[in-house]
Amino acid sequence: MTVTVTIPMALPSAGNMREHPMARHRRIKAQRQAVSINFMLDATDAKLGEAVVGHRPAEHYHGTVRFLRSPLAVTLTRIAPRKLDDDNLAFAFKGIRDEVAAYFGVDDADPRLTWRYAQERGKACVRIEFDVVTAESDIDVMRRWFEESGNAEFWRNVPCIECELGRTCLKSPPCAGAEVEP
Ligand SMILES: [Zn+2]
Repeated sequence: MTVTVTIPMALPSAGNMREHPMARHRRIKAQRQAVSINFMLDATDAKLGEAVVGHRPAEHYHGTVRFLRSPLAVTLTRIAPRKLDDDNLAFAFKGIRDEVAAYFGVDDADPRLTWRYAQERGKACVRIEFDVVTAESDIDVMRRWFEESGNAEFWRNVPCIECELGRTCLKSPPCAGAEVEP
């Protein structure tokens, strides 16, 4: 399954820009806001579905926080009249990548997220595509996915979603600290 969000914004080549730090800060903040507003307007989490993006009550405020139940492949495409070289392409997306990760309540280096970059010629905009790697119930598929992507340790150490919710562990052997059924 693929979910696509298109954001009508120009993405400048940040690498070649001689920019004051305050201007850089404002530019990245505006990019991040454009991402979060478009995800909200587009109901991106609802489109991905509860099997991929879970919601739990927030600890310190009234409301809910999202969490990722399943790995996601994220493709960030810059559409612009002129193309960038590969280094500058990834660099230009840094703020957007951080905001995408924050939306799912994780760090951008979280092994559940994999990142691809692409570019096309056309009228300026940014396209974000989410490919669902596997559904929550495919626990063996998920374990293999983490092992094959070199993240076996992450898989062993991070509590599964059921453990986080105080329910019966999904994993075999169980997560560290899991309450094992007698
Ligand atoms: Zn567990």
